[in-house]
Amino acid sequence: MTNEDIELRKRIEAVRAAVGPDVTLVAATKTVPPERINAAIRCGVTVIGENRVQELLDKYDAIDRAHVQVHFIGQLQKNKVKYIADKVDMIQSLDSLPLAAEIEKRCAALGKTMDCLVEVNLEGEAAKGGVPFDETEAFVDSLAVFPHIRVRGLMTVPPKCEEDAKKLGYFRKIYQKFIDIRTKKVDNSFIDILSAGMSGDYAQAVACGSNMVRVGRAIFGERN
Ligand SMILES: *Cc1c(COP(=O)(O)O)cnc(C)c1O
Repeated sequence: MTNEDIELRKRIEAVRAAVGPDVTLVAATKTVPPERINAAIRCGVTVIGENRVQELLDKYDAIDRAHVQVHFIGQLQKNKVKYIADKVDMIQSLDSLPLAAEIEKRCAALGKTMDCLVEVNLEGEAAKGGVPFDETEAFVDSLAVFPHIRVRGLMTVPPKCEEDAKKLGYFRKIYQKFIDIRTKKVDNSFIDILSAGMSGDYAQAVACGSNMVRVGRAIFGERN
């Protein structure tokens, strides 16, 4: 093991220790080269999350996929679904009906049911993906017509904010919506995942009920 591997292992174990055994750690691997992703996998990472279709395709064959799930976590254009439908285990950024219809079409052709999270835009930020918070339930209901989509829960990237109280408020708000939707039991849904929390705030997110965190910089270091 190189010093770099030892450092990586330490960081991964620190995040794991902080979130506890019931929370899934997704290593967010944008800009991280495949060798380093594979080192993280050797250190026990079981799920990676990629943001960009092209980057995922470029790295895909070099990633040691025998022991890792690949999630798509970035904004996804409808016309790119065909490139990744057979490659990813989950799409965390489902946020429109046209996108859902495309996932349905591609996965039906593959004979595959795609696990998806509905991305929620908590404060209506225009630059970000996600369905408006108040439309979350209606959107989840509308996905019941797609037999090759299995809704597993919600994902969010809350607004940047320095204030702790405000941050906690965002995480509580998405957790409450997650509970509401889980209680409702919609067709084709098996709601058990709340994906919230990144390097700067995963501990807070987990304290507020998140059970999946997507962590990049705290594992791999700052991105250039
Ligand atoms: C980059 C990214 C993360 C991880 O962010 P870090 O601050 O590096 O932990 C999580 N989720 C999404 C959607 C991302 O794009």
